[in-house]
Amino acid sequence: MPTRSDAQPLPAPRLARVKPSATVTVSARASALIEAGEDVIALSAGESDFDTPAHVRRAAIGAIERGATRYTPPDGMSALKAAVAAKFRRENAIAATPETVIVGNGGKQVIFNALLATLGPGDEVVIPAPYWVSYPDMVRLAEAEPVIVPTRPADGWKLSADALEAALGPRTRWLILNSPGNPTGAGYEAADLAALAEVLRRHPQVLVLSDDIYEHLAYPPFRFATLAAVAPDLADRVLTVNGVSKAYAMTGWRIGYATGPEWLIAAMRLIQSQSTSNPCTISQHAALAALEGPQDFLAEWRRVFMRRRDRVVAALSTIEGIDCPVPQGAFYVFPAIEGLLGRRTKGGRLIADDTAFALALLEEAGVAVVPGAAFGHAGAIRLSYAAADEALEAALARIADFCASLR
Ligand code: GLU
Repeated sequence: MPTRSDAQPLPAPRLARVKPSATVTVSARASALIEAGEDVIALSAGESDFDTPAHVRRAAIGAIERGATRYTPPDGMSALKAAVAAKFRRENAIAATPETVIVGNGGKQVIFNALLATLGPGDEVVIPAPYWVSYPDMVRLAEAEPVIVPTRPADGWKLSADALEAALGPRTRWLILNSPGNPTGAGYEAADLAALAEVLRRHPQVLVLSDDIYEHLAYPPFRFATLAAVAPDLADRVLTVNGVSKAYAMTGWRIGYATGPEWLIAAMRLIQSQSTSNPCTISQHAALAALEGPQDFLAEWRRVFMRRRDRVVAALSTIEGIDCPVPQGAFYVFPAIEGLLGRRTKGGRLIADDTAFALALLEEAGVAVVPGAAFGHAGAIRLSYAAADEALEAALARIADFCASLR
């Protein structure tokens, strides 16, 4: 048994149960192959192929030119916190004020800080599966236990009130909700949230993290709703997380934000002030322009994504062995590939599981996707359709050929 005094340096014990992010790893691998000149189409990363709008880019350049390049308060500059609070009031009917808002380096840091600020050994976090890859590992980094609750395509991949009730216990600290969801596009209507709220009222120890990052990518007839607005009596234990990354095509700028009870926001601010300090000042000016500027292009982008969703679902549904449910939002499809397991590729590889499928698809057909196992649901794959139409068409043709070639 090695000890920390051995010559070989050891990471902290809390890292022992944490694995790298599969979405980040697969995307980095695809980028490396493309840079090396390989013919790879990456449908692995969850990021819009649209450019950050021109008025947002100009605001950032203006900030640099004006010398707005210094520290801001660690939880964000006051103008941006006011704009975020106004966004939550205007778009979500959540009674946010600048005091109940925090701005971080992406939604990812905001979620991490919330979990780190509240969890310890023995605490439990209920996470419906399929889930975004980072939730369980962030919980483990905070030395707590993820409690994974499977959901089914037949239920729209949504957590039912009964399943929630069964998963909650005396050690439950959080429920994580993500709607529209990554990777399935699960969409919780107001009535679904009202049913969960009924259960949550009986469990006052449970906080709820509502990850609304895909809010603007909700496809009719699904109508976006958020728990703190559906059940205002629970708002003092709901952290509503959002950001500019997905809505405004600003993934690389790293600006996320949240509103929630003041004690929680203060605890998250404390962590941020002792770790990263403020998110990039220039990015904050860009985010301010995004929130305060024109919003009309969001509807146009949504129409483009919805058209791509329909095209991808239709194309995948014609492939024997693939079953592709229709997502209600976000920009992913999460088709089952169980019908193809056990077959062999032209190159002789056995498609034993979704990970083998994704690897073979990348190496033999040049399409990068993320295996479902990374999202807590084996037997499926995640494709992002936030890619240019030509790239999508080429990828769909390669996937069809690859699947047809399996024996
Ligand atoms: N959330 C995106 C995804 O799932 C971005 C990558 C990440 O941070 O996981 O692909």
